[in-house]
Amino acid sequence: MVHGEGGVQFQNWAKTYGSSPELYFQPTTVDEIKEILGLARQKSKKVKVVGAGHSPSDIACTDDFMIQMGKMNKILKVDKEQKQVTVEAGIFLSDLNVELSKHGLALPILGAVSDVTAAGVIGTGTHNTGIGHGIMATQVIALTLLTASGEILECSRTVNPELHQAACVHLGCLGVILTVTFQCVTEFYLQETTFPSTLKEVLDNLESHLKTSEYFRFLWFPHSDNVSIIYQDHTNKPPSSSANWLWDYAIGYYLLEFLLWISTFLPFLVPWINRFFFWLLFTGKVENVNMSYKVFNYECRFKQHVQDWAIPIEKTKEALLELKGILESNPKVVAHYPVEVRFTQGDNILLSPCFQRDSCYMNIIMYRPYGKDVPRLDYWLAYEGIMKKVGGRPHWAKAHTCTRRDFEKMYPSFQKFCSIREKLDPRGMFLNGYLEKVFY
Ligand SMILES: Cc1cc2nc3c(=O)[nH]c(=O)nc-3n(C[C@H](O)[C@H](O)[C@H](O)COP(=O)(O)OP(=O)(O)OC[C@H]3O[C@@H](n4cnc5c(N)ncnc54)[C@H](O)[C@@H]3O)c2cc1C
Repeated sequence: MVHGEGGVQFQNWAKTYGSSPELYFQPTTVDEIKEILGLARQKSKKVKVVGAGHSPSDIACTDDFMIQMGKMNKILKVDKEQKQVTVEAGIFLSDLNVELSKHGLALPILGAVSDVTAAGVIGTGTHNTGIGHGIMATQVIALTLLTASGEILECSRTVNPELHQAACVHLGCLGVILTVTFQCVTEFYLQETTFPSTLKEVLDNLESHLKTSEYFRFLWFPHSDNVSIIYQDHTNKPPSSSANWLWDYAIGYYLLEFLLWISTFLPFLVPWINRFFFWLLFTGKVENVNMSYKVFNYECRFKQHVQDWAIPIEKTKEALLELKGILESNPKVVAHYPVEVRFTQGDNILLSPCFQRDSCYMNIIMYRPYGKDVPRLDYWLAYEGIMKKVGGRPHWAKAHTCTRRDFEKMYPSFQKFCSIREKLDPRGMFLNGYLEKVFY
């Protein structure tokens, strides 16, 4: 009999949301998961499956049954010829990266961190940057899903293709993802080059930057014109780093946290802090060569609130300049650095924020120095207003105030996804508070 623990407190990585599941399960087999779903059906309980709990929103919270997939983390098959890997859904990408490397393979793109799970990253539409690359879910060749009724469904681009089109960005609401098959590439090294610029320059020459670097992104330092450009490109050079101790952030980060904490009492300091840190860390050219996953990933030390919407790529300039204008004309609205701007290729996944259009993701943050929340409502509303105006779609894992009515307008195939969900889970077993706002 599978054992569910009571009294477990769940908290997401940023410690911004939590819940108290009535029973917390860590199954080791599919039969155990079936048993948990059976118990949930019998007792009319909701079920939330979680990976690493890294989502900054409350998408992974529940007070009913929680299934944590950490013990279903095996690599099931490596097909070196096709360069494909099949994994259990709870595997951490940090473990997968190392194992793939032993076979001379790698994922073609990763988000900023790898201590997240295979099913978790695809489920929320995790992305990075590179206009020739889609969100991570576009790498999914096939997956298997255990539905609310206990049935196991397989889908791929050829088997059950409609389900596949929905399940790649599943939001955790279609069932329990059991396995995922990813398309990989031959392992590769990346050269990262970081250099300073201005907002005007980068916006005026966006096309050229997008063409110059395969994985191009930039950081804008709000309340200033400062921009740090980051190019990442394939290389045959051996690993090296021109980073210095400040660039390694260890000291910079601790100083930043202290100064941001001071600024919670003196908010007018924030623009100066943004400029100071640009000067301290980002005015030189820095190069770094390493294995791809070591370059894609970077240290995220601070807990933070985030929003990250995908907007049509042609709206990038308009949206950023409007945000800049709002900050300039409302000096009381403060914004922590950076605004991270990334670019992603359009795809055909029903609830992908990049559905059928190349997109620009604009990620804004407000840190929580020493766990203290900084007022952000005005900044958040100004940003959301712009994002909606230019036709944006919010990241599923991050903060937003949208409801079904918004999503119906944003996603041409929203209704199609809803029909698939309602068919697979008519009783709404896999819904929670966050998802009810999306679907009701
Ligand atoms: C420090 C940090 C850096 C980040 N960087 C990026 C970034 O660069 N780009 C980006 O796009 N996002 C980024 N994110 C967001 C992150 O990638 C997503 O929140 C991702 O979903 C986290 O994976 P997880 O395993 O923690 O999923 P969780 O947060 O545990 O779950 C996410 C969703 O997936 C569902 N789920 C998980 N496993 C299963 C399963 N087996 N079956 C069914 N449903 C399941 C859950 O129910 C939930 O709905 C970052 C987050 C943090 C904290």
